Amino acid sequence: MCSVCGCGSGTPSVSPVATFGHVDFGAGPAGASVPGLTQDRLIRIERDVLAVNDAQARANRARLAASGVFSLNLVSSPGSGKTTLLVKLIEQLRTAHAIAVIEGDQQTSNDAERIRATGAPAIQINTGKGCHLDALMVARALDRFLLAPGSLLFIENVGNLVCPADFDLGEAHKVVVLSVTEGEDKPLKYPGIFTASDLMVITKSDLLPHLDVDLAAIMAHARRINPAIAIITVSARTGEGMAELCAWITAQARQNLRTAAE
Ligand code: MG
Ligand code: ZN
Repeated sequence: MCSVCGCGSGTPSVSPVATFGHVDFGAGPAGASVPGLTQDRLIRIERDVLAVNDAQARANRARLAASGVFSLNLVSSPGSGKTTLLVKLIEQLRTAHAIAVIEGDQQTSNDAERIRATGAPAIQINTGKGCHLDALMVARALDRFLLAPGSLLFIENVGNLVCPADFDLGEAHKVVVLSVTEGEDKPLKYPGIFTASDLMVITKSDLLPHLDVDLAAIMAHARRINPAIAIITVSARTGEGMAELCAWITAQARQNLRTAAE
């Protein structure tokens, strides 16, 4: 037993402070920390920004309902396979629905070009240094579409598991996309996005035989954060789970559009 810090080794190799440090900058009332701002000021700023966003999101939601469009907001970390998934979804759903896509990325139009290659219309939103889409950005993209009633609108958010949770875009549902390569504890580390989402799509299931990842643990962690979350496991490469995902989207769209029409 180490006599300095009790870590179990014979001699301490690092200082006890470095070994056991845990500094929580989210413990205050604002739940976050910004240099130079008090917690009260931070709370006021966040409340003001989100109030404006929420008002625009309500307008987007009403506009989509009035035009009979069902929309999903896809959120995930970068590289989870959102765009690849969308390309496959468009191929499978296009016979039954008109489909349009809004792509959010800091830079480039690469993803919009991948979507347009399927024949579906896509608007690219670049956020520059911004790290999420907001409802006003989506409203400006909606101005450029002519969406027929019964259309599906997929909004691919900027790859980020943090603030997209707080920004309502006017979508019917947030869908969190998590690839099996991201490990088991993402729902526990980033609970906000899993709380805000109605569906978790676990992607790249074809890679499972090559990984030491426990699929059941990913699901259990997501359900611990959000007991009501639906979960569908897919591989865009092999097609596993894609029929189930298409069925979920079609059923939700039918239900959403029926509610909107009432
Ligand atoms: Mg993408
Ligand atoms: Zn952000």
